[in-house]
Amino acid sequence: MKTILVTGGTGFIGSHTCVELLNDNYNIVIIDDFSNSKPEVAEKIMKITNKKVKLYEGNVCDTELLTKIFKENQIDAVIHFAGYKAVGESVAKPLMYYRNNIDSTLTLLEVMSDNNCKKIVFSSSATVYGNPERLPLDESCHLSATNPYGATKLYIEGILKDLYISDNEWSIAVLRYFNPVGAHESGLIGENPNGIPNNLVPYIVKVANKELPELNIFGNDYNTPDGTGVRDYIHVVDLARGHVKSVEKIFEESGIDYYNLGTGKGYSVLDLVKTFESVNNIKIPYKIVARRKGDVAACFASTNHAKEKLNWEATLTLEDMLRSAYLYSKVIKKGY
Ligand code: UDP
Repeated sequence: MKTILVTGGTGFIGSHTCVELLNDNYNIVIIDDFSNSKPEVAEKIMKITNKKVKLYEGNVCDTELLTKIFKENQIDAVIHFAGYKAVGESVAKPLMYYRNNIDSTLTLLEVMSDNNCKKIVFSSSATVYGNPERLPLDESCHLSATNPYGATKLYIEGILKDLYISDNEWSIAVLRYFNPVGAHESGLIGENPNGIPNNLVPYIVKVANKELPELNIFGNDYNTPDGTGVRDYIHVVDLARGHVKSVEKIFEESGIDYYNLGTGKGYSVLDLVKTFESVNNIKIPYKIVARRKGDVAACFASTNHAKEKLNWEATLTLEDMLRSAYLYSKVIKKGY
């Protein structure tokens, strides 16, 4: 049985990935500082899978704690999710983003090296494509950062590349996520952002629950079929399964490779509103407002590389995503 250290394992994507890894018989050790999640999530992961996880509370920048984790556990590979991820906040607090996201990765890689653990899956993002050079986006498209959050992802990709060049024993999978949404079908884990959400689906969910009066659609004059922004939404459970496939891959061979994890399909903001309304049988009031600064018209993935190399592709539908997202919000409202 292999043991995977999951940094940020109680977060949105981390928790779903832990569930899929446990279902696939991996041992899981989590490190999380709960800056954007709660310790109870670890219990939910165990409840869903009926398996144990080992949980350490702390920040990945903490060399001593990481060293202790590697001493107390035989870690075979790491999935590195931990990091700050709010675009707007990163513009307001760039130093906080650079310090946390870069420092934690450097610390992790140093401690991994010291312990001769050279297998890592890194959570990157489609944000590294900046303003898309062409659509669908494939892994060879031009990379650029449009905000400090995106820059941290891009720099870390560069750090991993240099590390591999220096030592070919490393085995590195860089996963570029498109727009993860939805929740586990149990309704026990999902996305639960603090305050007013920045992302579309959590915002729609809050409108559905009458916690916010209406959705603001950021522009309907884009060059897209209905004028609203188009994105590649992917069910978080599909995404989690992509991590399991990536872990298998890094155990097979050394190297560094980059994978888009998306569905390859683009849906508009209005598509999401209509689908949410029909699957959940609820009205979502909205108004059209000005474009949001920095938004692109359309962004969706070419998924061929992940299909060929990882033998992975998304199978769940937009309906599945929006049904499960709403279900989870109702469960947490009841306080479970
Ligand atoms: N969007 C919107 N209203 C919101 C949040 C998002 O109209 O309250 C739009 C946004 O302009 C984009 C799409 O929904 O076209 C997805 O936005 P999100 O922030 O979820 O993802 P990202 O822009 O990072 O891909």
